[in-house]
Amino acid sequence: DPAAPGGRPAGRSLPDTESFAAAIRAGDRRMLARAITLVESTRADHRAAAEALLEALLPDAGRALRVGISGTPGVGKSTFIEALGLHLVDGGRRIAVLAVDPTSARSGGSILGDKTRMEQLSRRPEAFIRPSPAGRSLGGVARRTREALLLCDAAGHDVVLVETVGIGQSETAVADMVDLFMLLLAPGGGDDLQGIKRGVMELADLIVINKADGDLLPAAKTAQADYRSALGLMRPRFAAWKAEVLLASALRSEGIGPVWERIEAFRQGLTDSGEFGRQRADQAVSWMWRDLTDTVVESLQADADLRAAAE
Ligand code: GDP
Repeated sequence: DPAAPGGRPAGRSLPDTESFAAAIRAGDRRMLARAITLVESTRADHRAAAEALLEALLPDAGRALRVGISGTPGVGKSTFIEALGLHLVDGGRRIAVLAVDPTSARSGGSILGDKTRMEQLSRRPEAFIRPSPAGRSLGGVARRTREALLLCDAAGHDVVLVETVGIGQSETAVADMVDLFMLLLAPGGGDDLQGIKRGVMELADLIVINKADGDLLPAAKTAQADYRSALGLMRPRFAAWKAEVLLASALRSEGIGPVWERIEAFRQGLTDSGEFGRQRADQAVSWMWRDLTDTVVESLQADADLRAAAE
């Protein structure tokens, strides 16, 4: 039985679907947290309750802007998300932060959950922060994150940030559940372009070079120019948007407002061109097939006769 935050089992005296959904629509954070614990559960009765809840809330989802943020450990993701999050809540918005951590699928421990992260943001009632779910496979973690995202959306958050550790496997899954995918980089010594896989760059709608401050500023500017020319060689994902490279210092809260302005410009441009809704529709179809495949494979694997035959 999965423990809710605070150690309470998720399944004990769950409210009926309609009052559960109503509490989430009304912005009840405790109920939202319980609902996410429910979608993370693999128990069959929890799964059924989770599906009923998601179905009830689906009509309420769709208003939030979904932003993916990826970067290798140490580039400053939590510092950046805290700065961006505070910028947004100070501007009167409600935000949710979810994390996909592929390392937790392997080790059972989460590098995103270990640290005390986003301390200031986590004290703000307008911000809902959920550490990464543990799971056996990236596919399972990704599905639960997408469902958690829909719940946060239905709960009336204006922006949902989905964070992932950029070590190469989870970016595609996250890019497939968000409207805008942002790659966070930090200036390093030597050739900055080396470490980043082309495939990950192709997913990026926005590249932000963080740590553009102090001694690192010249290297950040060089990296910006390098990434701009590298992006120039790639085919844009949208007719209405070409990927941009911005500088920021999360530590000093510099360049955060301009990043948000470009995110809004992205949303406006894609909305005007019709690509915003089209991408969401395409994502829904691809998740439907993924869900269907998972469900069929899981039920086949649960069949004792088939398992015996496979052995
Ligand atoms: P994460 O592992 O990607 O979440 O990175 P953290 O947010 O934990 O940051 C890693 C380190 O980089 C910490 O020591 C931060 O203080 C530092 N850092 C984060 N953002 C900046 C920045 O804008 N400028 C500088 N100079 N350091 C930063």
